[in-house]
Amino acid sequence: MERRMLIAGNWKMNGLQSARKEAAALIALQGGNMPGQFDVLICPPATLLADMARDAGSSGLYLGGQDCHSEDHGAHTGDIAAAMLKDAGAGYVIVGHSERRTDYGEGDAQVKAKAEAALVAGLIAIVCVGETLAEREAGQAFAVVGKQVEGSLPVGASAKNCVLAYEPVWAIGTGKVATLEDIASMHAHIRGKLKTAGGAALAAARILYGGSVKPSNAEQIFSMEDVDGGLIGGASLQATDFSAIIDVSKSL
Ligand code: PEP
Repeated sequence: MERRMLIAGNWKMNGLQSARKEAAALIALQGGNMPGQFDVLICPPATLLADMARDAGSSGLYLGGQDCHSEDHGAHTGDIAAAMLKDAGAGYVIVGHSERRTDYGEGDAQVKAKAEAALVAGLIAIVCVGETLAEREAGQAFAVVGKQVEGSLPVGASAKNCVLAYEPVWAIGTGKVATLEDIASMHAHIRGKLKTAGGAALAAARILYGGSVKPSNAEQIFSMEDVDGGLIGGASLQATDFSAIIDVSKSL
């Protein structure tokens, strides 16, 4: 199965109404339409989702949430259900981002439950995994990430409803990028875990790299065998940078 690349922006807790102009500028820089050969996604704060979905119109730009609750409704003050994201115009939701795992102590079982809620709501789940610097230095990166993949994948995961994102924690927002060799070996490791968990149907899932991706390094990273695009934080906030990453990906 041919894997279709995904270039995904994670705006995190950044963006007032005025930030909508960045997505509009991105669409304009891309000539009104996203490239046909791969998918482009922005995950803005939930407060902007519905407006940005409307702004995106028929440009082909996908919108996504940054997190969801594992239940579909109820007494969970401050949380957001996957169905609400879908209702606001999302097609995807990030689950298990390392900032959620760190800030809220989210573990694999909770991430798995959130991913399952995403699938029930008809969203594609972007399941994030990645080791800390201490774990890498202790030689545990493969074991840690392997365990996260096994523990975080939702029941019913397939290449159609799940995307994996490998984000070494020490490379997120730090300007440090994993070496191409480290990325290649970890993505191959994750691909192997997907195959064990769900055979060929799951092994064909997209695996994104995340961690200080920018216009100057995107082409090299995305052209590797088991890398099917990126999850991009800082460089997705400015239309010019994100558009430049999209542009360098067009030839891949
Ligand atoms: C992220 O937010 O998932 C991320 C990878 O951030 P950055 O690109 O800023 O490192």
